[in-house]
Amino acid sequence: MDYAALRKSMVDEQLIQRGIKDKKVLWAFYKVERHRFVPKDISDNAYADFPLAIGAGQTISQPYMAALMTECLAFSGSERVLEIGTGSGYQTAILALLSKEVFSIERIGPLAKKTEALLKELAYVNIKIKTDDGTLGWPEESPFDRIIITAAASEVPLPLTEQLKDGGKIVLPLGEASSQVLTVISKKEDRLELSQVCPCVFVPLIGKFGMRQS
Ligand code: SAH
Repeated sequence: MDYAALRKSMVDEQLIQRGIKDKKVLWAFYKVERHRFVPKDISDNAYADFPLAIGAGQTISQPYMAALMTECLAFSGSERVLEIGTGSGYQTAILALLSKEVFSIERIGPLAKKTEALLKELAYVNIKIKTDDGTLGWPEESPFDRIIITAAASEVPLPLTEQLKDGGKIVLPLGEASSQVLTVISKKEDRLELSQVCPCVFVPLIGKFGMRQS
């Protein structure tokens, strides 16, 4: 498999043609070897235009959705970022290239440990991972400039808005278990402004401030 060629087509056809413009975001998606983050038996599909199962009932997001969420966060490079839902670690690696430091929380212990080992092997030095309920945030490392939640919530978890700096942004899928709207929240003088980006479907955020049970 010529993964570099597949990666270039992914960036050209799935990201640029659909309107991703931020040059640094495109550079990061060109650079990170997505096939390293999916189970070996499906690595030939790593650059395909859909989400993939990564075990434990979880998924690695479609490349376009990961790129769109990243672009929504408008990185300058100096940010401290909180990620909820480490999963495969692919999005984590992208964030690590575009910001100063990434703090990532995954609720499934074995998945967090596996991903932590992979990111270490790939020599990422500005990522810290912990196993916990991410809806509670990471108070010891707060406040954060950016927060990304890669699982669906019915409301923005309150502890996360409290751990966001003034002028900061959160991106998350907001809605019901079966369908959500990708939403960007900007904090300005302690007010939250919401803007809706597009419909999306993510696995549920499970935790104290996660998806309401219906
Ligand atoms: N960004 C990941 C997406 C993984 S799917 C990737 O592209 O690979 C969403 C992840 O969120 C799952 O791994 C799930 O276990 C995790 N998750 C769900 N609720 C969580 C919570 N409250 N805290 C931390 N992680 C959570």
